[in-house]
Amino acid sequence: MLKIIKCAFCSGTGKDPFDLLSPIAHCLVCDGTGQVELEEPLKKCIFCAGTGKNPLGARIPCIVCGGKGRYNCGSQTICFQCNGTGKSTDGLPCTRCGGKGFYGN
Ligand SMILES: [Zn+2]
Ligand SMILES: [Zn+2]
Ligand SMILES: [Zn+2]
Repeated sequence: MLKIIKCAFCSGTGKDPFDLLSPIAHCLVCDGTGQVELEEPLKKCIFCAGTGKNPLGARIPCIVCGGKGRYNCGSQTICFQCNGTGKSTDGLPCTRCGGKGFYGN
């Protein structure tokens, strides 16, 4: 089932949170609507802790959830490589699960 949630990257404002292009630039994640649609069941993105922002410092949307802060978790299996943390030892997303901490579906 599709669920509409607040865009995590712009906190629902619809504006680019980093003013990269201009102060009135649209959020590239939600295209300025402040909302995004995701398929349920949803899980908070563990890589960005639900903020939608790339935790590695770059001013870009989280590479795991695409800036939405959440993703569909379906029928999940905890990733044995990262033990469900979504991170590999170098701080990058786990190569096995793509940073989600689980795989399956
Ligand atoms: Zn947005
Ligand atoms: Zn994320
Ligand atoms: Zn993993």
